[in-house]
Amino acid sequence: MNDTSFANESIRCTVTDCKFHNCDRNYCSLGTVTIGTHESDPKECQCVDCESFKAKNEGLN
Ligand code: SF4
Repeated sequence: MNDTSFANESIRCTVTDCKFHNCDRNYCSLGTVTIGTHESDPKECQCVDCESFKAKNEGLN
């Protein structure tokens, strides 16, 4: 299980709905993330995604 108290200061992130977001600060708690695109020909920032995102409630039983 990932420890979300860890803040990877190399990965700033404001996506608080992600289960890997640091609890207290705007950083990711993962060591690395994968960035990708959902577009065939990306032209602007909105075309790019964090592919390591998982919703906070995902995987909870
Ligand atoms: S996995 Fe991606 S979206 Fe989730 S906290 Fe880390 S950088 Fe943000």
